[in-house]
Amino acid sequence: MRAVVIHAPKDLRIDSFPDPAPEAGEVRIKIAAGGICGSDLHYYHHGGFGAVRIQQPMALGHEIAGVIDAVGSGVSHLKAGMRVAVNPSKPCCSCIFCREGLRNQCLDMRFMGSAMRMPHVQGGFRENVTIDASQALPMADSLSLGEAAMAEPVAVCLHAGRQAGPLLGKRVLVTGCGPIGALMVVVARYDGAAEVVATDIADAPLGIARELGASLAVNVVNETSGLDPYRAGKGVFDVLFEASGNQAALRSALDLVRPGGIIVQLGLGGEMTLPVNAIVTKELQLRGTFRFDPEFELALRLMGEGLIDVKPLITATLPFDSAVDAFELASDRSKSMKVQLAF
Ligand code: ZN
Repeated sequence: MRAVVIHAPKDLRIDSFPDPAPEAGEVRIKIAAGGICGSDLHYYHHGGFGAVRIQQPMALGHEIAGVIDAVGSGVSHLKAGMRVAVNPSKPCCSCIFCREGLRNQCLDMRFMGSAMRMPHVQGGFRENVTIDASQALPMADSLSLGEAAMAEPVAVCLHAGRQAGPLLGKRVLVTGCGPIGALMVVVARYDGAAEVVATDIADAPLGIARELGASLAVNVVNETSGLDPYRAGKGVFDVLFEASGNQAALRSALDLVRPGGIIVQLGLGGEMTLPVNAIVTKELQLRGTFRFDPEFELALRLMGEGLIDVKPLITATLPFDSAVDAFELASDRSKSMKVQLAF
């Protein structure tokens, strides 16, 4: 079988790849759809991010869904022909954080398509993926496999929403409207936020944010006064979801968050310089968020019940052997929100 494999920055190839039969407790899935994530783009453009670097060829991809093709012994709840979304996380379930229920902080996490550990954990942009049966989650008939492949980023955003606490009746600001920021708009709406304002530096993603339920979507380059009403007093937003990873976005948003407000940082921005006095004197709470755990199953369920609709985010689907074109398209924010590969 073939896979989409990164060898070095800008060196993305379609390679042949081992295709093992499932062992006990495993299933083999014929992959149908795989979404290109920001981290896949980092590997493609830069060979990684921060200290995480490609040190050996690695299949990319961790937003995948497909159809079960073969079932190993001891697996009774899954059958060949079932449509499933793949949870790319495989925590060890025995380290101290797993035992405390913080499985997203597992000391021995195997996350598909991640170069964090050696050897790297191979990703899901492959024709077939053989994985632990616990990672294959049956999906509703109402969902397309492309939609099901969005369960992973939806789970990321549900987890981020949980970090903020209850959003019912809250005023929420989302900075950065890539797929994660756009899904934060959806999650904040689902959680009952009274107002959701989204910002970006490009018009195309703001249009999608409006379609997804943003009360107001502001281009912070062209509409510099668009957020002025929200600066009143000491700022009005109860919660900020910072999804750009851009220092300027976080700094400028500090004026817009009210005293005691909660900032959930989703974007991985590397090193940033912040006006700590603003955080101290306004008693702001700066919180991180990383991946997800039970939220993956929740994401799939909410999507299956039609409570979260990800269709407006999927802007293009290309055959996987055109992966380079797909990665270039996904890198163009004027044209793309979520680009998926079809296998
Ligand atoms: Zn663990």
